[in-house]
Amino acid sequence: MLKGKTALVTGSTSGIGLGVARSLAREGANVMLNGFGDVEPARRALAECGVKVSYHGADMSKPVEIEAMVRACEAEFGALDILVNNAGIQHVAKVEDFPPERWDAIIAINLSAAFHTTRLALPGMKKRNWGRIVNIASTHGLVASAEKSAYVASKHGIVGFTKSVALETATTGVTVNAICPGWVLTPLVQKQVDARASQAGVDQAEAKRQLLAEKQPSLQFTTAEQLAALAVFLCSPAADNVRGVAWNVDGGWVAQ
Ligand code: NAD
Repeated sequence: MLKGKTALVTGSTSGIGLGVARSLAREGANVMLNGFGDVEPARRALAECGVKVSYHGADMSKPVEIEAMVRACEAEFGALDILVNNAGIQHVAKVEDFPPERWDAIIAINLSAAFHTTRLALPGMKKRNWGRIVNIASTHGLVASAEKSAYVASKHGIVGFTKSVALETATTGVTVNAICPGWVLTPLVQKQVDARASQAGVDQAEAKRQLLAEKQPSLQFTTAEQLAALAVFLCSPAADNVRGVAWNVDGGWVAQ
């Protein structure tokens, strides 16, 4: 379905981003990967799909590096058709204890990075009159939790940003939408499971059960594959007129 298109997925060396990148590649899209850590497993997983795979190590907190990545994608593949703003970080602390540099990093990576990629990718998408921007927000883009002020602010911010740009592009072939996952068991959430296990003196299984029970009525983690399938749908012709949604995949979290 996406043969001949090029996707840039930020933060795709791990977790949700890797799952989305793999599913877009399975649909035939060439992919530029991004993110920290070992990139080879991600490269290998995508190469199996028979598409062109590339990588740029831009730090998403640095606008100059973001611009270099978008330009490199356009130069290498001739276009950037699908932009998935996924890179994200978390820090858990009460607001009065929140380290200011952690606040700045969360806002830069979870929110401002999407502004930069979007402003740089949009002119080409508009010129070709086709584009898909999928922002990986969170249930924390719709509701809050204590001790996550920066994350909640960044995710509410990206949901608002999604709606605004969706309106600006509403008469074009470019759509802009957000996906709002609940708990997904990635390295980002594993850290919170570990913290709970050590604070409460419980084992991993019990820490996971408590984490889910607090927020996610299904008592099941959402999977990266489920989120990737929604991203693929948002890239399909069936979603040509889906604009500015913030679609929660959260086992009932925000229905409460
Ligand atoms: P993860 O930690 O597994 O992956 C994060 C990715 O972002 C990695 O590839 C990492 O290298 C990359 N990254 C981090 N900082 C970066 C930077 N400065 N520059 C470039 N890349 C950087 O996390 P995940 O759970 O897969 O999270 C992906 C997205 O999904 C995030 O935006 C997160 O907020 C969101 N999300 C996750 C959950 C969850 O339960 N896991 C729930 C809701 C939303």
